Amino acid sequence: MTIPELVKDHLKTQFGERVRFDEPMSAHTTFKVGGPADAYVMAADKNELAALVRQLNKSNVPYLVMGKGSNLLVRDKGIRGVVISLTEGLKTIEQIERTPSAVLVRAMAGAKLAALCRYALQHNLSGMNFALGIPGSVGGAILMNAGASGGAMENVVAGIHILSPDGEIKSIERAALSWSYRGLSFTNDKGAEMDRFIILSGDCLLCPGDRRSLRDSARGIARKRWSAQPGRFPSAGCFFKNPEIGEPAGKLIEMSGLKGFRIGGAEVSEKHANFIINRGRASAGDILELSEKVRGIVYQKFGVKLAPEVKITGE
Ligand SMILES: Cc1cc2nc3c(=O)[nH]c(=O)nc-3n(C[C@H](O)[C@H](O)[C@H](O)COP(=O)(O)OP(=O)(O)OC[C@H]3O[C@@H](n4cnc5c(N)ncnc54)[C@H](O)[C@@H]3O)c2cc1C
Repeated sequence: MTIPELVKDHLKTQFGERVRFDEPMSAHTTFKVGGPADAYVMAADKNELAALVRQLNKSNVPYLVMGKGSNLLVRDKGIRGVVISLTEGLKTIEQIERTPSAVLVRAMAGAKLAALCRYALQHNLSGMNFALGIPGSVGGAILMNAGASGGAMENVVAGIHILSPDGEIKSIERAALSWSYRGLSFTNDKGAEMDRFIILSGDCLLCPGDRRSLRDSARGIARKRWSAQPGRFPSAGCFFKNPEIGEPAGKLIEMSGLKGFRIGGAEVSEKHANFIINRGRASAGDILELSEKVRGIVYQKFGVKLAPEVKITGE
């Protein structure tokens, strides 16, 4: 246990029922695997979050912020330190500016990405349909530059608010954001790359659109995803990033004859070879071993080193 008793007591007093100790991460990840986090805290709002981050930094307690756990693989011995969940508290989605041709929508990091897509559809705003069917939170989607159906978060995010490691809330303009394939980074005032920042909210620039065509395109996207992805078993979506050139990861895995290949309870999906699925009793160890095996075979056959898209964490 890395959390000093004093900090534990503080967490209990401060968060009451919103803190749990030795909380299994399998309950909070879409893979349904992962050992216990020393503490799991549900932040109610950004001020509480800022105070918590300051306290944890002061006490040298490590922390990890998470959204819906749909891109996280937590190892079997769990996470030392505090996992901070934003999805119970920071959920507001609101319009903050409107001109005849554009609408700026602010979504808090803990809101579901699906809720932001629904908000856009309900208000006849175009720009978010690409994200329909991507699970996860707005914060996770921004951090991961989530994308599908020809779109990605980088196309709509006009700015973000973050909490810096010293507990300060900062606004970051679009020009300072550096997007990459499934990633986001930015530098601070001194030109150093920021790490350990927490995304509090994102401002999405959307356009007034036609109700009917927005709904038609939404239906098309949902149908396509449904037919292409293995919905029945727990996963974290695509396990590997697509290589910069050449065939996508799923195609390389399929051409390696690995569809249906299993280790323990983990399996390369028959439906989509870049999905590793939990057949029911997989451990994180099974998933990691399978992913290493897949990487090795794809490298042997095609000389391509696949890199995980899924964030792997814990012990
Ligand atoms: C069935 C399925 C289909 C999927 N399809 C797609 C797809 O089509 N396209 C795609 O891009 N992804 C897809 N994914 C992956 C995943 O849904 C996205 O990456 C999603 O954006 C992750 O959001 P999350 O809230 O679940 O993040 P989490 O898994 O909770 O976290 C992911 C990473 O983001 C960090 N993080 C989360 N919130 C914050 C925050 N507020 N501030 C700072 N860091 C933060 C975490 O520390 C972690 O490193 C799919 C996943 C599944 C299970």
